Amino acid sequence: MTHQNIHWETAIAQAAAWINQADSLVIAAGAGMGVDSGLPDFRGPEGFWKAYPALGQLGWGFSQIANPQAFRENPLLAWGFYGHRLQLYRHTVPHLGFKVLLNWGNKMLNRYQVFTSNVDGHFQKAGFDLMRVHECHGSIHHLQCSEPCHDRVWSAHEFEPVVDEAHCRLRSALPRCPQCGKIARPAILMFDDLEWVYERTHKQHDAQERWLATIHHPVVIEIGAGTRIPSVRHFTERIQQQFHAPLIRINPNDLLQHHNNLLVLPMKAKEGLMQLQTKMEALSSRWRVNES
Ligand SMILES: [Zn+2]
Repeated sequence: MTHQNIHWETAIAQAAAWINQADSLVIAAGAGMGVDSGLPDFRGPEGFWKAYPALGQLGWGFSQIANPQAFRENPLLAWGFYGHRLQLYRHTVPHLGFKVLLNWGNKMLNRYQVFTSNVDGHFQKAGFDLMRVHECHGSIHHLQCSEPCHDRVWSAHEFEPVVDEAHCRLRSALPRCPQCGKIARPAILMFDDLEWVYERTHKQHDAQERWLATIHHPVVIEIGAGTRIPSVRHFTERIQQQFHAPLIRINPNDLLQHHNNLLVLPMKAKEGLMQLQTKMEALSSRWRVNES
């Protein structure tokens, strides 16, 4: 792909101008969005086992523990992993970049929609409208039957897992399906997962598609989405083509470039969003984040 060399200032100014001119905001986020809030990055076995050393000692990789088979073979270990993550995501505060994005989205004529592969629920936690978030891999804050004996999910709200972190084992009682009594598991898409209950995600998908049918001039901001699990990139590229929309990609592993209606800012999520916010405020005071 050819691209022109550009300077930082030009890139940020162009991206801010695109946001300023759009009538709607499409936000697409991958794992890099959560890393700046202090959440672990599971890419590569080293990163994963650094976060979960007990699984490293047992030789369980991410694709083995994030697997319905793990709930059949070793539910206390599987829930040791997911119970720890559930508590971690509950107690971590989303970084300031979420607030910046929400402010832009709320001030657009046709508002916003979020597409994310993250299961942490942090867009909702940061105040995003529940009806405007599509979690394509589900949410750790919802449970389903491991069987599954029925196709509904329920809130994990009442489940307070206690985990022995040194051994990655659930110490409290296993959550159970209220219908059949079998073990409940997180309602998220795992590896080799034929049992995922996706009805909640499908409803979010349908709401997103209905909204997309009403907008005309969106700007797309893609944040922290890698190429290894490409669902987020596939989505943004589809929206870019469908609307001939400008796409701002914030990813520290890409190279600074500007190519037709793609602009890449090789930065971490929060840094990229804060730099854009500064430029947006310089364009117009309407983009200031209201303190409340
Ligand atoms: Zn059941």
